[in-house]
Amino acid sequence: ASGYPLLRDPHYNKGLAFNGKERDAHFLRGLLPPVVISQDLQVKKMMRSMRQYQVPLQRYMAMMELQERNERLFYKLLIENVEELLPVVYTPTVGEACQKYGSIFRQPQGLFISLKEKGRILEVLKNWPEKKIQVIVVTDGERILGLGDLGCQGMGIPIGKLSLYTALGGIRPSACLPVTIDVGTNNEQLLNDEFYIGLRRKRATGQEYAELMEEFMSAVKQNYGEKVLIQFEDFANHNAFDLLSKYSSTHLVFNDDIQGTAAVVLSGLMASLNLVGGTLSEHTFLFLGAGEAGTGIAELIAIEMSKQTGAPLEETRKKIWLVDSKGLIVRSRMESLQHFKRPWAHEHEPVKNLLDAVKAIRPTVLIGSSGAGQTFTEEVVQAMSSYNKKPVILALSNPTSQSECTAEEAYKWSEGRAVFASGSPFGPVEYNGKVYVSGQANNAYVFPGLGLGLIISGAIRVHDDMLLAASEALAEQVSQENLDRGLIYPPFANIRKISAQIAARVAAKAYELGLATRLPPPENLVEYAESCMYSPNYRNYH
Ligand code: NAP
Ligand code: MN
Repeated sequence: ASGYPLLRDPHYNKGLAFNGKERDAHFLRGLLPPVVISQDLQVKKMMRSMRQYQVPLQRYMAMMELQERNERLFYKLLIENVEELLPVVYTPTVGEACQKYGSIFRQPQGLFISLKEKGRILEVLKNWPEKKIQVIVVTDGERILGLGDLGCQGMGIPIGKLSLYTALGGIRPSACLPVTIDVGTNNEQLLNDEFYIGLRRKRATGQEYAELMEEFMSAVKQNYGEKVLIQFEDFANHNAFDLLSKYSSTHLVFNDDIQGTAAVVLSGLMASLNLVGGTLSEHTFLFLGAGEAGTGIAELIAIEMSKQTGAPLEETRKKIWLVDSKGLIVRSRMESLQHFKRPWAHEHEPVKNLLDAVKAIRPTVLIGSSGAGQTFTEEVVQAMSSYNKKPVILALSNPTSQSECTAEEAYKWSEGRAVFASGSPFGPVEYNGKVYVSGQANNAYVFPGLGLGLIISGAIRVHDDMLLAASEALAEQVSQENLDRGLIYPPFANIRKISAQIAARVAAKAYELGLATRLPPPENLVEYAESCMYSPNYRNYH
């Protein structure tokens, strides 16, 4: 593009940063005021105007507007201010954006594939302007964060996740494709909302659902080949586990809610051992929430314990207990349990609620993954603190409104002894004259680096050992200084370096397992990963 259309093309637009030569060469004279400014100054100016918005959703919209206007500036802003802007483009603000997506929708930023497109999905994929796709994030909108069924408005999630793939993992923006599968919604409020953008019908289930997903999965492989990474995101658990197991042997698929969460949390636990002592197998784990996140994390912990001790999985699982909406998962409930909960049904008398479960199991680690807020009550945290010198407490549920407890509550109720991290960020807390900083146990630590590792090695399948490799790589990035402040995750500010380390370790595992197709392997994987990462700096156009 040149001239006016160049200024309208978000991939190439540089706004006032076009210099004199570029303005001459590309017919921009007079279309811009005379001043030429640097990209750094543009970043400064944008950050200043971002900070003037008091309402988080306004910041979200300003970021989306920037992404549609000037992509490189958007990514430079995000990369250089990641700690400040992550909560804007991702949890918690993205949750609110999805809830109001019908009213704020302006421009398509991803592909909508609904039941209306059945039989024509391959055609629909070809309508997307970019041809070389490396990562697809797909949702059907049924379990958006802890907010439930948002139908077609779940689109905010794949868009947000992919902007993190680029900003944190260095995947080129043009290689990223956000997809929302619309099979209807069971959200009455949306069905009655005149601004709702999706199909106005109840969700398709069973065969109708499976057929649409099957068509999508084969169309993707046919159109983009075997090495495109498909990340399933925010599917309800009754579909998520089945889709993952169905496609993991034929496609490069990854479920972030199950596997990504698991890798991030396991990493935090590995780091927390430096603070609380003992090996993983010496700890006892209790989860509130036995869905994708809960059982996914539990299984990866059990796998790691089994690798460390040589004990079989059936044994290591016995150190891990889960509570769902009906109470502790125990053997006598087996018949009525969903299949993904069954490995966790241990021998124990029935226990109705979390507090009683804490008292009965006396866990050293308590993990919240239920999506239900305010469930780690004062009594629960106090009980944890009465059995443990340093209780490990992770409140993973997103967004902030759904957090099991706040950072302040965790420190106050444990008298400052808790090792605490949460899914959505909390600021520093002052308690008894001491400042406590908590880490963010958030998937954004792992999926961008994991994706980069899969891509640079040309991996064709995801393997559990790659998740373990990612966990270890992340845990190694936690410095003594971080630990001294109580942090079990490294600061997000270094995330691109962290992602490169994770990518290198994942790629190495892919080569080791014979799942990599990019041959011969690069000599230095960290350097190679870094060299592959997208840079948001402007290029010269003459
Ligand atoms: P999910 O598959 O729907 O599972 C939710 C589980 O919580 C189910 O086992 C459910 O019980 C249980 N539950 C719900 N309300 C409960 C209550 N009041 N008391 C006890 N148990 C309750 O959801 P998910 O994918 O695991 O996600 C759960 C939450 O984790 C969401 O808020 C999500 O945002 C968050 N998450 C955070 C991260 C992160 O990076 N920090 C990553 C992934 C997920 P039943 O089975 O009996 O219905
Ligand atoms: Mn998710």
